[in-house]
Amino acid sequence: MGISRREALKAFGLAGAAATLGGVSVNAQTAGTLAIPNGAGFNRIKVGDITVVVLSDGQGNPGALLPNWGANPELQDQFKATLVENFIDPAAVRNNFHPVLVDTGKNKVLIDSGSGVNANAPTGKLLNHLALAGYKPEDIDTVFLTHFHGDHINGMTNADSKAIFPNARVITGEAEHTFWTKPATGTVSAGVTKNIVSQAEKLKLVKGGAEIVPGLTTVESFGHTPGHQSVLVSSGSNQMMLFGDAAGHYLLSLQYPTAYLGFDNDKPAAVKTRAALFARVAAEKMLVTAYHFPFPGVGYIRKRSGEGYEFVPAPLQF
Ligand SMILES: [Zn+2]
Repeated sequence: MGISRREALKAFGLAGAAATLGGVSVNAQTAGTLAIPNGAGFNRIKVGDITVVVLSDGQGNPGALLPNWGANPELQDQFKATLVENFIDPAAVRNNFHPVLVDTGKNKVLIDSGSGVNANAPTGKLLNHLALAGYKPEDIDTVFLTHFHGDHINGMTNADSKAIFPNARVITGEAEHTFWTKPATGTVSAGVTKNIVSQAEKLKLVKGGAEIVPGLTTVESFGHTPGHQSVLVSSGSNQMMLFGDAAGHYLLSLQYPTAYLGFDNDKPAAVKTRAALFARVAAEKMLVTAYHFPFPGVGYIRKRSGEGYEFVPAPLQF
């Protein structure tokens, strides 16, 4: 039978108001993508009394997964075999990008900001998906940045360098901030200048174990970058680990205890951090999400019968 896009928008209450939904411009159709994406672009779950919304910033163009996502030269053949065994074409993988909104009832905290809108890229969809989940950029009172790679910070400012989350203070790791704003080369990158340095008066720097807002605590996870921090969500006896990039790839980093990414800054440290975090969340049977895991991005990590771990996705809940 088929239903028109207009009917689909109407069904979601977006017709007419689509252009201004939640004060956000929700493009009816951008780069051939429907306004209501598959799965609506978000995955909302409860952790005790806290609502966690995993938001897709879109998926990258298909590209080679190796060696970036499994960089050990001696393991390339095994990595490839594992991908193929899991129905993945190593030459044409679309990367996922998942900022997370945590709504504690009192605070609305965005963890990482995506790649920012770029007409030529299939990413930059965070604001559309945030609107579909029922939130406006002005609702966000806190942004926490796990680390300063572009796919995590470039969504902080628009093309005019204005803050996209105007009411948010920005919290991030002290060591991460030092590494990028006082680099050994002496030159601060354009992305960090535009998205971090420009918001200096809103910035709060923290170490591991710091409370972001009640219910959210930072977890030092150095290695991927020198000051990377993950976030632990706690409500009553319920916990969830928001890994950021500390989990790496959902197959290779879990199954191979020595696997590292091409863009891990300190590879041995990244491997050690992953091992410790995987052991912790597996032992505590904790829900997890990670920035680059496949959408809808939420699940558990358990020990395999051999070495390493595996990711067990949790179904979407309605
Ligand atoms: Zn990343």
